[in-house]
Amino acid sequence: MLFNPDFKPTHSQPDSALWFILDKGRLLTKIKADRFSIPNAADLEALRISPSYGLYLGSLDGQPCYAGPLETGGSFDANFKLNNLRTLFGLLPDTLIWIAGHGNQLLYWHLAHRYCGKCGQETEDKADERAKICPRCQHVNYPRLSPAVIVAILKDNRILLARNRHFKGPFYSVLAGFVEPGESLEECVKREIKEEVGIAVKNIRYFGSQPWPFPDSLMIAVVSDYAAGEIAVDNSEIIDAAWFSKEELPQIPPKISIARQLIDWFSQL
Ligand SMILES: [Zn+2]
Repeated sequence: MLFNPDFKPTHSQPDSALWFILDKGRLLTKIKADRFSIPNAADLEALRISPSYGLYLGSLDGQPCYAGPLETGGSFDANFKLNNLRTLFGLLPDTLIWIAGHGNQLLYWHLAHRYCGKCGQETEDKADERAKICPRCQHVNYPRLSPAVIVAILKDNRILLARNRHFKGPFYSVLAGFVEPGESLEECVKREIKEEVGIAVKNIRYFGSQPWPFPDSLMIAVVSDYAAGEIAVDNSEIIDAAWFSKEELPQIPPKISIARQLIDWFSQL
């Protein structure tokens, strides 16, 4: 599957255009013989779903892809279902999940920027790039991205994993936090780790990155070494943290996340 992101369709919309219909982080999926797929324009017509607007996302193997909101109720026949996007990992091809995530992020941005934040005028789509422009004061808004660091901390062949109060399952993961204005990634890593588990780290090095469109994060993963201090969890966000060897890892996050890629990388050291 080859996806080419774009902001402006080059052709009129065929019946085979894929529609990523989203409602509060849930995606409308088509289910046939236990196989999940994305409904196309013809399916929407049969379901009598006609979104008042569609954001063009790009093309997937030549098929145009749109994201649109679900504006009517949610009763469909048994072949269609609204699923929380994150529960579809493993059921839908990863490429489709990432396109849906991208759509989710852009719809969220679109809804939050219908009016100019400076003068209150209704905004318009900018003609030459993915942005909203105010026709009165020319203020431009781009889709928001919230950078966050995610950190593997190593000490004597062990990794620090923590349990966050907001985790949905009983798993442990590496620590993460949002970058604040005026901060370098390295400063953010040191501050977050100090705040959440009370220790100092050193030798911070880049590992990789991943968009995390729930709704608009960019995860920047790094590896670091323990430098000083004893674990003392903040008890607001982090409720438990400990050093784990690769032989005694607790339950860890699902495969798709870069958190899991960091932990898998550690397991293979
Ligand atoms: Zn304005």
